[in-house]
Amino acid sequence: MINRLTIEDMLQRLSIKPVNPAWSTGKETGDDTSTPFDSFSPVDGQLIASVGSASADAYDRVIEQATAAFGQWRMIPAPRRGDIVRQFGEALRSHKQDLGMLVSYEMGKSLQEGLGEVQEMIDICDFATGLSRQLYGLTMQSERPQHRMYEQWHPLGIVGIISAFNFPVAVWSWNAAIAWICGNVCVWKPSEKTPVTAVACQQLMARVLAENGIPEGVSCLVQGGRSLGEELAGDHRIALVSATGSTRMGKSVAAATAARLGRSILELGGNNALIISQHADLDVALPAAVFGAVGTAGQRCTTTRRLIIHEAVYDTFRQRLVNAYGQLRIGNPLDEQNHVGPLIDVDAVRQYEAAIASCLREGGHFAVAGTVLEGAEYVSGCYVRPCIAEVEPYFEIVKQETFAPILYLMKYRTLEEAIRIQNEVPQGLSSAIMTQNLREAEQFLSVAGSDCGIANVNIGTSGAEIGGAFGGEKDTGGGRESGSDAWKAYMRRQTNTINYSDKLPLAQGIKFDV
Ligand code: NAD
Repeated sequence: MINRLTIEDMLQRLSIKPVNPAWSTGKETGDDTSTPFDSFSPVDGQLIASVGSASADAYDRVIEQATAAFGQWRMIPAPRRGDIVRQFGEALRSHKQDLGMLVSYEMGKSLQEGLGEVQEMIDICDFATGLSRQLYGLTMQSERPQHRMYEQWHPLGIVGIISAFNFPVAVWSWNAAIAWICGNVCVWKPSEKTPVTAVACQQLMARVLAENGIPEGVSCLVQGGRSLGEELAGDHRIALVSATGSTRMGKSVAAATAARLGRSILELGGNNALIISQHADLDVALPAAVFGAVGTAGQRCTTTRRLIIHEAVYDTFRQRLVNAYGQLRIGNPLDEQNHVGPLIDVDAVRQYEAAIASCLREGGHFAVAGTVLEGAEYVSGCYVRPCIAEVEPYFEIVKQETFAPILYLMKYRTLEEAIRIQNEVPQGLSSAIMTQNLREAEQFLSVAGSDCGIANVNIGTSGAEIGGAFGGEKDTGGGRESGSDAWKAYMRRQTNTINYSDKLPLAQGIKFDV
């Protein structure tokens, strides 16, 4: 079991000094103590650190430093930049246990998931290292004689990263590792709810950059809340803003970046459904549904929020779910015996209670009731019981993303109906079907199937590998990050035509004799 001493040890092993800078451009850090904010652990309610917020002047200095660093970083060959990202991956490997524990303690996810989040960072560093030798452009056939036409990819400049509390470090690394190998520099504004994990990551990278003689400004951190995020989104010096968070936040970032014709990648809320067909292997479907719904206490963007179950297996599956929920152990997420940890803060608990009340008002019936837990182990006030509600798909509450472990069950008769229910929400992040029937699986994946960015067969909605492009449609924002060719969003494409003849033929055969 973890105690205060373990936390102090862990911070010391990570050599996070200081733990509360308001900004950092690498080795250099600064403190603006005027409007500090506190990071309390949802695990036990203890104060981890009081962190400074970057003032407007400090923010400006950071952006100037990043702008200067871009001029140098972009000139370093991409494979060499990739090697530096590889070294960052090595640093993460050697600090995986401590960083994973810090993620778990500051955010409240289970230790296994905290370690998994650091593993995801390591994986993206490996991916980015290989990618640094593969930033390919096409060669095209010119219609003019003795002409060569091709395209190449150049970095954008400063990539601003705004991240959410629920993946306090992995989302930054998905963006930063790819942005760096592409030749960009990064300015990160982490969630104000998880500032200390951000300092730990920033300092690990700062050490790697310094060891390689790289100037300040390639990796920067600015601490603050919504207003700092708004400043960053509206700042014309930031070429690309990659923002992860609520749909409300994404709409604001989209408007601010569009108004200055800047670029954005938006990774926003989800409302993910799992279809359980009458042809499903229920032994596979059960753990997928339970982990999807209660993992990270329902605070993943890919959390399974809706189960759309065929009427022929509805009662059986509902009973198996109720039995499984009866086995869940809720408590300190650093104790590996527990399955479910706390919500991030008491505001999140209020939202959980409000959603349950709305569901009851609309006529929902709870197969497993939700409650806020009390007692010595739950002293932070952030622990809730995962619950299961039987609902109709048209309920208003079912269309909203409540960031808590509330699972909605609904029945269907035909696959067309199930797909329609699945698609009939504003969000479009992740989706899945459990079936052993090939026709059903293919129909779900077809153009008339799921409208989400992620569509799985016989695995749950939650969790994704870094090799694929990650993101979703509709209110989820349309952005793609991480694997596949998502790197192209971090670069600008340039088309080059070279004439090596002694004539000047014009395109489309146009004649212009002088
Ligand atoms: P949030 O929107 O409250 O905050 C996210 C970040 O945005 C924070 O750093 C915050 O300071 C900043 N911010 C808030 N308002 C802003 C504004 N107007 N302009 C600029 N920045 C602003 O979200 P949260 O509660 O931290 O995270 C939960 C949400 O994030 C959920 O909706 C979840 O689905 C979503 N999320 C999505 C993904 C994805 O990849 N699609 C991943 C993780 C989380």
